[in-house]
Amino acid sequence: MVDPLRADCHTHSSASDGSYSPEELCQEALAVGLAGLSITDHDTVAAYDQLRVPDGLTLLPGVEVTTDLEGSSVHLLAYGFSLDDKEIREMCRQRLESRRERFMEMRQRLQEQGLRLDPNRTWTQTALGRPQLAQELIEMGVCRSYQEAFTKYLHDHAPAYVPGRSFATLEAIQQLQAANAYVILAHPMLVDRKKLPKLMAMPLDGLEVWYGHSRGSWVSWMNLAMERHWLMTGGSDFHGAAKPDQPLGASWTPWETFQRLCEGRR
Ligand code: AMP
Ligand code: FE
Ligand code: FE
Ligand code: ZN
Repeated sequence: MVDPLRADCHTHSSASDGSYSPEELCQEALAVGLAGLSITDHDTVAAYDQLRVPDGLTLLPGVEVTTDLEGSSVHLLAYGFSLDDKEIREMCRQRLESRRERFMEMRQRLQEQGLRLDPNRTWTQTALGRPQLAQELIEMGVCRSYQEAFTKYLHDHAPAYVPGRSFATLEAIQQLQAANAYVILAHPMLVDRKKLPKLMAMPLDGLEVWYGHSRGSWVSWMNLAMERHWLMTGGSDFHGAAKPDQPLGASWTPWETFQRLCEGRR
């Protein structure tokens, strides 16, 4: 039997909170036998700038946009748009700006808790968030692990946590679709359950049915998608060292679906 072609449609590079550079991510994708890949950094497409795609790998433009649904954060995966699209670039610019402001406010709050963060620290990543703060706390010796940093200082209800400004989910879906992107709800199994009925009534294009290693519940997500004639995608949410239990290729998108995503929505 011929091994089906696999595409991992949810990965992060060092442009956001992944530990692999975009080039390394492409090489690793080939090494684990993937034929398709989408780099879906948080609120940035910087990974695609000047990226040389190795032979044998098809790269699908993608981004994971953080949105707000009545106080809960909802991650949307957008695929298949033009990397030159002005609307998408502008959405990312606005999100990155509010990420940076929020990041600095969280640093301020950590300082107020008595932590002495280096005021002269600089970052190479385009999208800043809590993972970079976790890294800093580890380097300072305040925490021993990424998980400890979240448990002690950075979780959603921690005193240092700042939600930040995001686009409203519905408006973001519409804006992304107007820019020729397919919009998929990322990791629906991690969304606040109370918000699911609202989300399921939104004009999404699909659900990320296969996610990381969460194999248990995919049948119910598949049924929800099929009832709505939505696309079904899969991805690992690979971050490299930060999430070692989600290796590249842990989940993948069927090849026909991947090809459709590559064509764009219109
Ligand atoms: P941010 O975009 O700044 O809100 O950071 C979100 C990132 O932090 C995601 O990659 C999550 O995987 C990670 N994260 C959020 N909450 C936790 C938690 N309680 N434990 C570990 N990682 C978390
Ligand atoms: Fe992340
Ligand atoms: Fe996410
Ligand atoms: Zn992600």
